[in-house]
Amino acid sequence: LAKKSTQEHYVYYKQEMEEQTLWRLGMIRQLRTDFADNRLELWYQPQLNLQSGKVIGAEALLRWRTADGQFVSPAVFIPLAEYSGLIIDIGDWVINQACQQIKVLEEHSFTDVGISVNVSIPQFRRENFVDSIMEATNKHKVKPRKLELEITENILMDEPQVVIDALVKLKEQGISIALDDFGTGYSSMSYLQKLPLDRLKVDRSFVNDIAKPEHAIIAETIINLGKQMNLKVIAEGIEDQEQQAKLKSLACDEVQGFFYAKPMPADEFLAFLEANK
Ligand code: C2E
Ligand code: MG
Ligand code: MG
Ligand code: MG
Repeated sequence: LAKKSTQEHYVYYKQEMEEQTLWRLGMIRQLRTDFADNRLELWYQPQLNLQSGKVIGAEALLRWRTADGQFVSPAVFIPLAEYSGLIIDIGDWVINQACQQIKVLEEHSFTDVGISVNVSIPQFRRENFVDSIMEATNKHKVKPRKLELEITENILMDEPQVVIDALVKLKEQGISIALDDFGTGYSSMSYLQKLPLDRLKVDRSFVNDIAKPEHAIIAETIINLGKQMNLKVIAEGIEDQEQQAKLKSLACDEVQGFFYAKPMPADEFLAFLEANK
């Protein structure tokens, strides 16, 4: 009896797996066509200096609106783009789009507003990743320091030296580097010193409960760590006044979250800057 039920389980499991695989392949096919048809959008979420309230930059975030008007979450499609290799071309597009946006902002006299883009592991694995970034900044005549790459700790999971070498080269060329989702991934304090970082991003999960004293300890520790390492510290996912007040008391440098603004299309970000001058 036990054997039979195990077998049934297996058949059921196999069916599920096949459905999953088909679904993923379908999504990848649709992503490939929609990317080719220019259906991906790059949205921008403002980042502010916590003391002055001035907008200092934005994080660029991909948005995929399919033909039926539905948004697919990046949490769903980024892994598929990575798995299929599509992230290489999409990532290139993101970087060029961000550089173009930096230029547009300059033309509207926002000369100090930088843009951060997220980069994935497969992008680092290509030979000419560093060159591709420098080509983009050259092509759009953008000062490298105004383009920031956001990496996660997981990027060091395999071939850490390849990644570190690329980052060091980029940093030598003036590109800014931020460590995203800090404290949530594969972490090793020893790598923290080897990475040529400019900013540390406190993950949303640590900001979430920050107003409760017993939960503030991790955010506080990360902020202090960043400061001692001479990095700027930015907290993400601020949703209310209480969280803002607590971060202020911890002397966090910069903030990003729905409390200030949600990610928005490029033209709305420009309007947001105009309104918050
Ligand atoms: P991330 O880089 O950590 O980006 C921050 C995420 O938190 C964004 O989700 C943003 O919309 C969300 N967020 C910001 N403030 C708040 C808040 O106050 N409350 C809540 N609940 N959420 C907030 P999004 O846009 O869905 O992106 C999810 C993830 O997808 C990103 O996490 C990033 O890892 C990845 N991603 C997005 N765009 C790109 C891209 O162009 N390239 C790559 N490689 N990954 C990307
Ligand atoms: Mg990010
Ligand atoms: Mg993050
Ligand atoms: Mg995240």
